Amino acid sequence: MKLLVVEDEELLSKTVAKGLRLLGYSVDCAFDGEEALYLYEVNQYDLMILDLNLPKIDGLEVLRRIRSQDDTFRVLILSARNTLEDKVNGLDQGSNDYLTKPFEFQELEARIRGLLRRRFTTVNTIINCGRLCMDTVARQVWWGDTEVKLTRKEYSLLEYLFVHAGQAVGAEELIEHAWDSGADLFSNTFRFHMHSLRRKLDNAGAKEYIITERGKGYRLQCPKEDL
Ligand code: CA
Repeated sequence: MKLLVVEDEELLSKTVAKGLRLLGYSVDCAFDGEEALYLYEVNQYDLMILDLNLPKIDGLEVLRRIRSQDDTFRVLILSARNTLEDKVNGLDQGSNDYLTKPFEFQELEARIRGLLRRRFTTVNTIINCGRLCMDTVARQVWWGDTEVKLTRKEYSLLEYLFVHAGQAVGAEELIEHAWDSGADLFSNTFRFHMHSLRRKLDNAGAKEYIITERGKGYRLQCPKEDL
């Protein structure tokens, strides 16, 4: 899951990003409204955490522009504007949730999980491919009755393959999803995590679920004998 934190107070931005990364999210940070819209255009995010008092372009204007082209994208406003009118206004403009500062990190986390879950329930919180099963809320992976313990990176990679099951996904796209933008990443690092993910699936019994397609990338598929 990839999140965009839009916040001009650097310390707060850092703290929030760090906390979210520890929970396993990939996080990018924008420090003004213009940067927020730029990053939103060039990357694929699952959710945006949006401050309102921002340099260059105000948060509500950022939200308006996003809504003019996408009404399903998740936006959580995190703002010091705390009157009922502010909240109603923010929700009217199309934010999916509104949290006022000061806030407890745990509450922010819970709201984020709630929003992401809502997105997934329209699809499914539990997705499976043959006997391989992923619980996107608990962030757990199962092979039949056996839990496959994955690191955050391995989980993110598998999650993306799951969402695109049956299609080949390029390494670059996988990296984009599982790492922060601009992460200084060697392709060896990616291969290391991919190798480790495959080994764990293999050891758990889920053999040959991730297929390498030369020149195209990786594809998650259920082997015939598991159908
Ligand atoms: Ca601000």
